[in-house]
Amino acid sequence: MRRKSSLLACLVSILAVTASHAQTGQPVSAAPSAATSITATPITVTVDATDAPRKMLHAHLTIPVQPGDVTLLYPKWIPGEHEPSGPIDNLAGLVIQANGQTLTWVRDSLNMFAIRLHVPAGVTVLDVRDDFLATAAATGFSAGASTSDNLAMISWNEVMLYPQGKIAADIPVTASVTLPDGWQFGTALTPTGHEGNTTHFATVSLEQLIDSPLLSGRYFKEIPLAPEVTPKHYLDLAADGPEDLALRPETVTAFNNLVREAGALYASRHYTSYHFLVTLSDQVAHFGLEHHQSSDDRVREKTFLQPDLLLLEGDLLPHEYTHSWNGKYRRPEGLLSPDYQTPMRGDLLWVYEGLTEYLGGVLATRSGIWTEQEYHEELADTAAMLNARPGRAWRNLQDTATAAQILYETSDQWDNWRRSVDFYPEGQMLWLDVDTVIRKQSHDKKSIDDFCARFHGLGGNTAPKVVPYTFDDIVSNLNAVQPYDWADFLHERLDRKIPHAPMGGIEQGGYQLVLTDTPNSMMRASETLHGVNSWYSLGLLVNHKGVLRDVLMDSVAYKAGLGPGMKIVAVNSRAFTDDRLHEAIRDSKGSKSPMQLIVENTGYFRVVNIDYHGGERYPALQRVSSTPDLLDEILTPRTTAPKN
Ligand SMILES: [Zn+2]
Repeated sequence: MRRKSSLLACLVSILAVTASHAQTGQPVSAAPSAATSITATPITVTVDATDAPRKMLHAHLTIPVQPGDVTLLYPKWIPGEHEPSGPIDNLAGLVIQANGQTLTWVRDSLNMFAIRLHVPAGVTVLDVRDDFLATAAATGFSAGASTSDNLAMISWNEVMLYPQGKIAADIPVTASVTLPDGWQFGTALTPTGHEGNTTHFATVSLEQLIDSPLLSGRYFKEIPLAPEVTPKHYLDLAADGPEDLALRPETVTAFNNLVREAGALYASRHYTSYHFLVTLSDQVAHFGLEHHQSSDDRVREKTFLQPDLLLLEGDLLPHEYTHSWNGKYRRPEGLLSPDYQTPMRGDLLWVYEGLTEYLGGVLATRSGIWTEQEYHEELADTAAMLNARPGRAWRNLQDTATAAQILYETSDQWDNWRRSVDFYPEGQMLWLDVDTVIRKQSHDKKSIDDFCARFHGLGGNTAPKVVPYTFDDIVSNLNAVQPYDWADFLHERLDRKIPHAPMGGIEQGGYQLVLTDTPNSMMRASETLHGVNSWYSLGLLVNHKGVLRDVLMDSVAYKAGLGPGMKIVAVNSRAFTDDRLHEAIRDSKGSKSPMQLIVENTGYFRVVNIDYHGGERYPALQRVSSTPDLLDEILTPRTTAPKN
């Protein structure tokens, strides 16, 4: 999964296992093919999405049962979201019938996700109707806003109930969907037939159904990618308007290359086909959620038309695609929740998300979505942000992963002191460090690509399945690629409270982090979207209205008494604009007088003097010529792409 971070305009699913404590390194589930081995009568679910434009999905389920006391469950721990985020609050209109009679149900008083009822003698199937109210704000993850007048992203977990006592891999489901007139769709599910606006899909396990969302819309386009590659890949787009679907040829070429480069990196594919399900909309939540054979990528409407937006989102699709190998096929033991009720453990999210963050950026660059320079810029911004992170004093990297389930939904305010989900960006730096150590120690004979081919390519091409791993598996696979004291290396970076970001990868890569007076293109794009970034000068992130998005602890702004949520009304006696604040920071250099701000806080005004004279400061990577340019080697494409 991917979310936006507070600093950069830079900014996840489970196929269950058939054994709860499997031998690591051994496949324990064969997800889609497992469906064919399921002999039980399937649950059926039909989603009527014709009311999606007014934010409601209607579902009709039939659930095979035995007479007696039955508990129906609603998915709670959503795969890839790493937290108990199942949107039970938006389930409405639940009516359960059998043989034409309405049955009485009660909610468990402790588990809000459990519905209890008594099934009378002679009843073998429940007839269930429920609605999903797609009314959430455009924040959050898959349960966030997902529909508009012209499109809908259907996540099956939103409407599903299933009997307690079985794991999702063992519950067969036959799904159908009814769409508004003229709407098309993309999904990893296999259609088996159509009746009017209703499409039926092949029976799959509940785990595969929830792992296979369906993107639909009036303005819809499917672009086959890298046609010479098998299995097949598709870019499925649903947009707010028809004009949003006109991708530039070079963008399509880069996504073609992404498919090729991923194949070269992972030396395997673990899906029967892959669909990038991209929602181009200003009406929905913006994030990415991985699945085994698809990804739910929700970005702004004009992402493929405005270079700034594409730059800022450039690694989203590579990130979610990487999860098909790193997160879906290979998954930390603790992140398995075979019944969506078993709590997840986030302790290895620095691999699941951190390594994905690293490889996603590398693949974005090898594919040509980003240039090498743009990769450098993103890395500089990430390194600088982590380097100026006061929360490092009290919270180690490991705790950001262990506590992930309480950190995803936190406020951006005082994020630098809280630290939030730092295992993403700091994981990126940690794995760059690993990559450069392998390259140095092996005298350039090995790299993290060898680790990926071994770890993610285990077993070669396979159908979707889960092969769990532990910390020790990571260490042993690294050692098999390049012997080193990897356990100590990792513990040092995970468990210690280190005041500065792990800069080893940048330094061994042939660069150093510096501050300059000019924003790079990534930072400029971020400022255009979010407002002034004076984090490395004043210690402020300021939106276009003058509101302080966050204040860096111990910065000059912090020492002057500023806090997040306050609003800058005037800069040196003139009304606030982005340009005036930039100008005041630039002019501080060489000036002896302090910058004067008029600030409003909860209806009260005051004058704040900031005695700062350093001018503008932005992060950049600077080449260190005495060290080989390993970054260049890392970012060089592995494939020679056909010209399309
Ligand atoms: Zn992710």
